[in-house]
Amino acid sequence: MSYFSNIYYGIKSLLTGMSVTGKYFVKAPWGTITQYYPDNRDTLKMFDRFRGEVVMPHDENNLHRCTGCQSCEIACPNGSIEIIWDRVVDETTGKKVKVIDKHIYHLSMCTLCNLCVQACPTNAIVMAQNFENSVYDRTQLTKVLNKPGSKVHPDVKE
Ligand code: SF4
Ligand code: SF4
Repeated sequence: MSYFSNIYYGIKSLLTGMSVTGKYFVKAPWGTITQYYPDNRDTLKMFDRFRGEVVMPHDENNLHRCTGCQSCEIACPNGSIEIIWDRVVDETTGKKVKVIDKHIYHLSMCTLCNLCVQACPTNAIVMAQNFENSVYDRTQLTKVLNKPGSKVHPDVKE
């Protein structure tokens, strides 16, 4: 008996799958879901939840929000982030403060889990949607996220 019921459920499952395929083949009522990449590169819009890589936004004055606190480095489960920092004397207070030298990000190791972004107390890093990261030399996937000459925004405290 189970022999015939297996055949029945097999055919039923096949027809269910084929009906979905057929619906999209003829005309999907909720629009086309196929992306014509790379022909649509100029108009391509990724989904809001898509995570492409970690980036550090800078404003028009080359200021970022990273204090070098290392929370992202600690939160990263596979060592994709390395923070190189230093302490310098703050000219206004005379106290030594932590400053970031380099925020190093290894995209080649990153699983895009977003834990570093969630761990950052100053919202200094975000997920960008760029995904065209094919390179011949994997060292190009190691990036310094703080731009040359950039500084931490004065409103952001350690
Ligand atoms: S997204 Fe995840 S794996 Fe990638 S750097 Fe952040 S914490 Fe590490
Ligand atoms: S990106 Fe955020 S969590 Fe990482 S070192 Fe900078 S301030 Fe700290």
